[in-house]
Amino acid sequence: MTTIIPSYIQGSWFTPETDAGARLVRDAATGEPIARVSSAGLDLAGALHYARTVGQASLGQLTFHERALLLKQMAQALTARKSELYELSSRTGATKNDSMVDIDGGIGVLFTYSSKGRREMPNTTVYLDGPVEPLSKDGSFSGRHIYTRLPGVAVQINAFNFPVWGSLEKFAPAFLAGVPTLVKPATPTGYVSEAFVRILAESGLLPEGSLQLVSGALPGLFENLRLGDLVAFTGSASTAESLRSHDAVLTGGVRFTSETDSINASVLGPDAVVGTPEFDAFVRQAVAEITSKAGQKCTAIRRMIVPNGAVDDLIGALATRIAERIVVGDPRAEGVSMGPLVSLEQRGDVLAQAGRLVAGGGEVVIGTVEPRAGVGAYVEPIVLRFADNRADAVHSIEAFGPVSSVLGYETVAEAVELVARGGGSLVTSIATHDPAVAVELVTGMAAYNGRVLMLDRDDARTSTGHGSPVPHLVHGGPGRAGGGEELGGIRAVLHHMQRTAIQGSPDLLTAVTGVWHAGATAANTGTHPFRKSLADLAIGDQVVSGLRTVTLDDIEHFANFTGDTFYAHMDEEAAAANPFFPGRVAHGYLLVSWGAGLFVDPEPGPVLANYGLENLRFLTPVSPEDSIRVTLTAKQITPRVTDEYGEVRWDAVLHNQNDETVATYDVLTLVAKEGAWV
Ligand code: NDP
Repeated sequence: MTTIIPSYIQGSWFTPETDAGARLVRDAATGEPIARVSSAGLDLAGALHYARTVGQASLGQLTFHERALLLKQMAQALTARKSELYELSSRTGATKNDSMVDIDGGIGVLFTYSSKGRREMPNTTVYLDGPVEPLSKDGSFSGRHIYTRLPGVAVQINAFNFPVWGSLEKFAPAFLAGVPTLVKPATPTGYVSEAFVRILAESGLLPEGSLQLVSGALPGLFENLRLGDLVAFTGSASTAESLRSHDAVLTGGVRFTSETDSINASVLGPDAVVGTPEFDAFVRQAVAEITSKAGQKCTAIRRMIVPNGAVDDLIGALATRIAERIVVGDPRAEGVSMGPLVSLEQRGDVLAQAGRLVAGGGEVVIGTVEPRAGVGAYVEPIVLRFADNRADAVHSIEAFGPVSSVLGYETVAEAVELVARGGGSLVTSIATHDPAVAVELVTGMAAYNGRVLMLDRDDARTSTGHGSPVPHLVHGGPGRAGGGEELGGIRAVLHHMQRTAIQGSPDLLTAVTGVWHAGATAANTGTHPFRKSLADLAIGDQVVSGLRTVTLDDIEHFANFTGDTFYAHMDEEAAAANPFFPGRVAHGYLLVSWGAGLFVDPEPGPVLANYGLENLRFLTPVSPEDSIRVTLTAKQITPRVTDEYGEVRWDAVLHNQNDETVATYDVLTLVAKEGAWV
């Protein structure tokens, strides 16, 4: 008797009392029953409510950095127990390498979002988008854009092919945004997802309600979704279509994105003839994409688009490499490099689709579309050749297994047109060492792709590969690829947030954003801000210096000392002929250096280091006998969650004796969190 895979709902595990209607899941290689899957009796409306109340509340107490740190700890907890996941993963037909992509790849997404969250987001709960937009002459009314998290739940419906990575790629950005997740893995491999959720639940790291798991179907779920919720779907175009047309999405304001079938391409450049490193790299990559995960990858290469003269060479090279390198079998057996498909149903589906490709004009040149005898959902690698490169079938039929087709092209422009015929893809790779070919291909087809990988002799060894989405870059594509953007660094976090334009006075903009705005209240508290640790420092703490006069001697001294004897500082006639200067002027770097001298408090104290300047602009030239002063204001305070110090961004403005703005910039410092200095 097999067990029923439980769900993790409202903070505890739920197993249906009856197995009526439960779906049986089998080992992909041996056909042995593994478990049954059912969500019968599950209170889905209650789960959504729990996420929106308890989950939102617990995540809302954490800043971006605190959430990011938890993601890292979760990655460590999963790493410590990943052998359990590998064990289960092999039952899905995955080889060790396939499992690595799924399990280590998924853990890697958590690590990446953890570090990106702490480096690229503020340690608050509001994310700023773009600069201040001045809307009044005197600065009393301005606008800006902010992102705040969506108030609902992120429902993530996943495909069977990556039960760990597929879930974590969506969970990480949702969690960082502060939106609780309800994940629904695909039935055939949901037992692996259940295992990683169990590890996370047992780690004690999950804020209450931040992650729930539904093993099995989601009856009635969409009826309970509402504005503020979002759905991220991965799977077939037909399921996506039916979910997308639900009222909750059409008129209820539920954000819906999908990642569906994608007829990805790989283009061999006209320069990449047999014997070039690019041809070899193309072949290696193509065989890897056909066989890894037995071709059950949304990013796998379905169309190899190559110069007409290279078609035979390519097919020969593919056949040789497949014969030499690929051993199909039980992934637990020694030496096996390609496992079975996930299930017999999936095998039937893949062979039927391959049959449709044949009916649509494809000639099988490697492998066979006939089912292999015996147990296990095995399919040998299949390569088809299309004499008619515009045949509809090759651009529209996805056989979700180790199946790929070869098409010839005459000109680069024709290659671009063929890529576009896929109707929108997740990824296209090109193999060329010719910059002109790369420019024509990439600019022509980028709009039809979520990602384009350029392969040549210089990056062939270090390339992450055509089929591997990386968390830093967009994963998703236009058109039939579904329009999603599941990864892409902070972009994917922002997908879980609402962008809102806010308008108001400097004080209110400061209060809402946590960033000091010019014109907002600023205070000279009597204690120099460089004497305050983060515990005492406040946004708006300010130093205003006295004036310092610049002489010609100062300019010449600086010029000779630094070697910067540019004519604008040294040659009166040449400087005066320059449209920007009245005559010789002070170096901008001299003024910025003086700015530091004017605002600094020199004794040892909580300010540990100056780590740079940002947004430096020189606005008004400074002539000999002009004077400058500096105003330095604490603009943004970002304590680091893992360190005893944090970052302070200071707003710096240099003025001249006429109160004209000479320069503006941000000074970046590291400041101790605690400690007393006098
Ligand atoms: P499905 O679209 O059938 O399933 C995808 C996910 O949607 C599964 O979790 C499934 O759950 C769930 N689902 C199905 N119906 C509903 C519904 N009415 N309401 C809510 N959730 C639902 O795709 P498959 O996984 O079966 O794969 C079929 C095809 O999809 C493949 O052959 C391939 O062409 C494509 N595919 C594309 C992928 C991609 O990344 N782009 C990845 C995998 C597949 P359950 O499993 O419980 O039915």
